[in-house]
Amino acid sequence: MSQTIAERLNQIRSNISTNVKLVAVSKYTTTEAIRAAYKAGIRDFGESRVQDAKIKQMELADLTDITWHMIGSLQSNKTRQAIAQFDWIQSLDRLRLAEQCDRLIQELGKSPKLLLQVKLAEDPHKSGWTESELLADLHQLEKLQNLNIVGLMSILPLGLNESQAYDVFSRVGELAAKLRSLGWSNIQELSMGMSADYAIAVKAGATMIRVGNQIFSGY
Ligand SMILES: *Cc1c(COP(=O)(O)O)cnc(C)c1O
Repeated sequence: MSQTIAERLNQIRSNISTNVKLVAVSKYTTTEAIRAAYKAGIRDFGESRVQDAKIKQMELADLTDITWHMIGSLQSNKTRQAIAQFDWIQSLDRLRLAEQCDRLIQELGKSPKLLLQVKLAEDPHKSGWTESELLADLHQLEKLQNLNIVGLMSILPLGLNESQAYDVFSRVGELAAKLRSLGWSNIQELSMGMSADYAIAVKAGATMIRVGNQIFSGY
């Protein structure tokens, strides 16, 4: 392999400012590789399946200061486990799921940080609120007092060029500002950017990037 995980992490870090949080997306990698990233200073890891994450979390239970992020689409029969197991759920993508989270958070007494997944460019393969859908659901969301919603998450559709990507990312930031102006002052985090486009996302205001392949491919 051409570069170690630590070398790849250093390269990514050199491209971003230190106040952007780097979430290492470990969904396709081994616990051995996660340990290497941990040793290189990473404390935030992203997983997309509750079940896979559970196995890794058990194997890594000795690393007690990891922050686990759920980034994959969440089926309603996995919500309970997700709330129990994750520190962040970045993929809160529909009102029904929000309502279910609200009930379960109360019941389980565990309140992960939540990001609303938004979809500001047409993408048949991804879920998430469009701007108008989210504005329409705001009133219902406001009633869900147990939810600790701290920002927005977005995934770009494939095939955008750099300026189109910048435009969509910027609109996510504008939507967050709009929500703050409507009283949602906790909407501060912008989780956007992956291996292919994180540099553009950071330019457009990302506070958090989610990088998998560029750290772990081949490991
Ligand atoms: C897999 C995944 C990533 C990481 O993508 P890479 O291209 O491997 O960096 C980021 N965000 C989400 C939601 C993902 O599912």
